[in-house]
Amino acid sequence: PEAYRTEGSLTLEDIFIAVKTTKRFHQSRMELLLDTWISQASQQTYIFTDEEDGALKRRIGGHVIFTNCSAEHSHQALSCKMAAEFDAYLASGLSWFCHLDDDNYLNPRALLKLLSSYMETWDVYLGKPSLNRPIWASETLPNNQTKSVHFWFATGGAGFCISRKLARKMMPWASGRNFLSTSELIRLPDDCTVGYIIECKVGGQLIPNTLFHSHLENLQLIPTSQLMQQVTLSYGVFENKLNVIELSGPFSTQEDPSRFRSLHCHLYPDTSWCLQTAGW
Ligand code: UDP
Ligand code: MN
Repeated sequence: PEAYRTEGSLTLEDIFIAVKTTKRFHQSRMELLLDTWISQASQQTYIFTDEEDGALKRRIGGHVIFTNCSAEHSHQALSCKMAAEFDAYLASGLSWFCHLDDDNYLNPRALLKLLSSYMETWDVYLGKPSLNRPIWASETLPNNQTKSVHFWFATGGAGFCISRKLARKMMPWASGRNFLSTSELIRLPDDCTVGYIIECKVGGQLIPNTLFHSHLENLQLIPTSQLMQQVTLSYGVFENKLNVIELSGPFSTQEDPSRFRSLHCHLYPDTSWCLQTAGW
């Protein structure tokens, strides 16, 4: 990866940020993101969902994209959304595509710093490897025989980024209806399909990065002093327990169970609702 490094003049406006959500999380998850990190990256962030929502539309206008994908947790429904994100990114003409789930906190400054050290004109696929080894899958061939394939992929729940150069090479397998048919070849979720296209079809490689985090790892293990440098964080349930980052305030865990509001106040202390907090 040293060869990719360059002095960047990248700005946030060069990055297309796609957030995947679904109707039932508009209030519980999206409001939190809109109040926090999306407020710092609103021009380049687009939300991909499955049902019309007047409240969301009023809040972010054209930045919410109502896909016709079904509101299910099936491979098909999720691949349909990933395809919509990918097509909207290609149409945007921007240098970088970053995908996030609606339970991710993105630190725009850390993201910019990270992407500035790579060239969009190289094949770059950055994220957190889902497993500590490549995944094996069985690919269906046109003659209905199968072939064993293996590849690395970035876990969608930690967010990942792709350079424009690589995204353009992915088009025959990822744009329009191709994404769904490609995902059917290996019958795995959307984030696996992205890795499969990049590693098995295009000949690219996942560049593992430790600054991306999902709630499938123990988030308490990230030292509090390093939270501000992470590119993505998350919250959720892990091994039957609430899994959140370790941060004492300014909000209590009752007021801010995800800890995202507290983190946001550490990153952007001038935020109006941060200043109102007692003891801050
Ligand atoms: N999601 C979706 N449709 C669904 C369920 C989930 O688009 O029917 C999205 C959800 O909004 C989130 C991502 O898929 O961005 C992962 O969902 P969740 O965090 O609930 O599950 P996980 O896989 O992390 O346990
Ligand atoms: Mn999740």
